[in-house]
Amino acid sequence: MIYLNGRFVPLEEATISVLDRGFIFGDGVYELIPVYSRKPFRLNEHLARLQRSLDAIRLPNPHSEAEWHGLIDQIIGLQAFDDQSVYMHITRGVAKRDHAFPAAGTPPTVMMMANPLVTPTSAQIETGVAAVTAVDNRWLRCDIKGISLLPNVLLRQLAVDAGAAETILLRGGFMIEGAASNIFVVKDEVIYAPPKNNLMLPGITYDVVLELAAQNGVQSHIGAVPERLLRHADEIWQTSSTREVLAVTTLDGEPVGDGRPGLLGQRMLEWYQAYKLSVMRA
Ligand code: PMP
Repeated sequence: MIYLNGRFVPLEEATISVLDRGFIFGDGVYELIPVYSRKPFRLNEHLARLQRSLDAIRLPNPHSEAEWHGLIDQIIGLQAFDDQSVYMHITRGVAKRDHAFPAAGTPPTVMMMANPLVTPTSAQIETGVAAVTAVDNRWLRCDIKGISLLPNVLLRQLAVDAGAAETILLRGGFMIEGAASNIFVVKDEVIYAPPKNNLMLPGITYDVVLELAAQNGVQSHIGAVPERLLRHADEIWQTSSTREVLAVTTLDGEPVGDGRPGLLGQRMLEWYQAYKLSVMRA
């Protein structure tokens, strides 16, 4: 069942106009919330990021926080499986094709769906995954979780074409993030992470990882990460709501560190799983 503009309908009935500005211009924003044992993970943080994305594109939030909570509970309840990814998508609605915003009061299109949550396999966790690098050719507002993902799609496909799991993006000599994930570098037991700014998406998992590092006495350094630090890393991690904390063990075909998932990354994944369990039980 899909939520579309106030109704829960079967997928086949969830249809929108070809004039929807999401379809025509990619004029909208989205969120993806992981759900463990039917409990949304970091729900308030995801809703806060959604609000920031909406504010950035000047689209009024169609729902209060309480309404979102209700809708998310409903869509979770409609699924037969416990671990889910809840996808939320809001566009600037349907209007005659014109770049300028439609008249105030044009109803936005609101869509939500829930799919089984797909997290890394035990084989991926055990061996780590491959990544390639590419020049970040996206725009300068990558902090907005916008639905216009053509650059991300093309960049991720570079990884797929190379038999890798992610493309790590470089801009002006610095590591920014992955095509659909954040990237951390470990060198001499210090975690290096790029700062949250207009060039990268502020990941919810990114925050969790930095919190867990602080709680466990691991030093982290937030600041521009030079490409050479990435290339000489002891460990590289990819983080996102679905990849969780996943070791990158080859970069552009070269081994990262000794080519196996590092100790700190393994501990971080354990802390992450323990944190998830504590949230689920709360
Ligand atoms: N950066 C980009 C470009 C992404 O698409 C994602 C995943 N949506 C992330 C980072 C990670 O964000 P999160 O931890 O909130 O899933």
